Amino acid sequence: MGVLHDAMTPKRSVPPRSTRQRQAVLSALHARGAFTSARDLHEALEADGVAIGLTTVYRALHVLNRTGRVDVIREKTGERLYRPRPEDGHRHYLVCRACGLSKVVEADAVERWAENVAEATGFAEVEHTVELTGVCGDCRVGPAARDSAG
Ligand SMILES: [Zn+2]
Ligand SMILES: [Zn+2]
Repeated sequence: MGVLHDAMTPKRSVPPRSTRQRQAVLSALHARGAFTSARDLHEALEADGVAIGLTTVYRALHVLNRTGRVDVIREKTGERLYRPRPEDGHRHYLVCRACGLSKVVEADAVERWAENVAEATGFAEVEHTVELTGVCGDCRVGPAARDSAG
């Protein structure tokens, strides 16, 4: 089986199965709104009666991330969480390592820096991934903060 880039596939009246599955994954992600793991998303899809395998969900999320349709963050457990990317571009998040709360942060400096790097190096299509993690106010005052040493 040959690997074909989706962008190269000519437009058809009936989209291929993989495209339909990707759309189902993306709309399920939109319905959730918050950062969601592939496992949770898979459960939500199955609950909606969508017959889709967990591997397919992972693959769809990978493609959606690569094509800039979803943002991904990594939890301390190593698990990846996904969220649909806003129409007007990507966002940077500050994520609480304790409870998973995510907050959109201003990153104009990062955007300008990335543009400058692209200009200075002559690189095109420069992309960046910036992950900020911390401990949110609620978690900082909770018992967890006192129990953990260091
Ligand atoms: Zn927290
Ligand atoms: Zn950025």
